[in-house]
Amino acid sequence: MNIILMGLPGAGKGTQASEIVKKYPIPHISTGDMFRKAIKEETDLGKEAKSYMDRGELVPDEVTIGIVRERLAEEDARKGFLLDGFPRTVEQADALNEILSELERKVDAVINIEVAEEELMNRLTGRRICEECGTAYHLVFNPPKVDGVCDLDGGKLYQREDDNPETVANRLSVNVKQTKPLLDFYENQGVLKNIDGSRQIDNVTEDVIQILESL
Ligand code: ADP
Ligand code: ADP
Repeated sequence: MNIILMGLPGAGKGTQASEIVKKYPIPHISTGDMFRKAIKEETDLGKEAKSYMDRGELVPDEVTIGIVRERLAEEDARKGFLLDGFPRTVEQADALNEILSELERKVDAVINIEVAEEELMNRLTGRRICEECGTAYHLVFNPPKVDGVCDLDGGKLYQREDDNPETVANRLSVNVKQTKPLLDFYENQGVLKNIDGSRQIDNVTEDVIQILESL
């Protein structure tokens, strides 16, 4: 099962990915999470990615494609993967097709979570993340049982540096520009599935699972 989750920042990709991996034995591969880990560990990759992420710009394709290529070659991704936040440009989508064809594999479905742009600012500025497991919460829409603490492992919740109103505005405009040609790309390949992401988290999950069960 080779799946891509698409959607603008805040659409709910990470939230849905957490649900999917509970049910299906495929790794959740998030380029954003990989960059954040590299920044925390102060690796060369982290140093390079940080300046772009702080501005809400995309990290250059060359760098991003390189880390995905390496990640997909790992053992746990052999049976399938759930890509979140990649590809974000047509160049990345081309590269992914190449990587997969070398492995004699292909993308089975691209699940595009649609949410109106106006809604996304509220979602992102209210987002809080567990520093242990990366689970996303929302101060209003999906609060933890205890303020500031992850329900799953008791980890402390933090706010991402790029979830401030200025950077969010730039991330949305950068991503809106890139999205249309990518959707066309996957529509032409016959694998695009659009779902309405403006509903409650559980309802969106039901739609995602229905798509996965139909593959
Ligand atoms: P993405 O990975 O696409 O950037 P997230 O999954 O991190 O998005 O979700 C962004 C924020 O919106 C989080 O705070 C999350 O709790 C909240 N959220 C996710 N899905 C929904 C939903 N269907 N309705 C309301 N809030 C949601
Ligand atoms: P969001 O919650 O906004 O969907 P992510 O966690 O997926 O954000 O990504 C955070 C940042 O990491 C992006 O703003 C960008 O700088 C960088 N990034 C993540 N994925 C990619 C990608 N596929 N190509 C380029 N940059 C990326």
